[in-house]
Amino acid sequence: MKKSRNTRQRTVILDILRQTRSHPSAETIYQEARKSLPSISLGTVYRNLGFLREQKMVKEIRANEEAGSRFEAALPPHAHFHCGLCSAIHDIPLPDALYDFGWERSEFVSSVTDLELHVIGACADCSPSSTQN
Ligand SMILES: [Zn+2]
Ligand SMILES: [Zn+2]
Repeated sequence: MKKSRNTRQRTVILDILRQTRSHPSAETIYQEARKSLPSISLGTVYRNLGFLREQKMVKEIRANEEAGSRFEAALPPHAHFHCGLCSAIHDIPLPDALYDFGWERSEFVSSVTDLELHVIGACADCSPSSTQN
């Protein structure tokens, strides 16, 4: 019984992440998961996120030490734009130049398995021009 309940929790969490592009925090995923699993705990959400991350089905996103972890269902590599004002995270395609850069040319690099790029600034919703009427 325990096993099937765990599977159900994992499925609900993964579905939440697959249905959003908002890169929710564990807290937000927990609030959402409670709608279909009222007895789920925040600890359970964290544990499942950890498991799904290890399985490479979920990706953890952190721009810096202060920003809490955010999560998304695994997708092809893309850049993340972080708004420093409203904490929104948006997916941005990686410039081809980053792939063609030839990281292995560096004496420190043997092979590359993933590419992560964080861009930090103000989003379109938070920019002064969009708040003027
Ligand atoms: Zn913003
Ligand atoms: Zn993303």
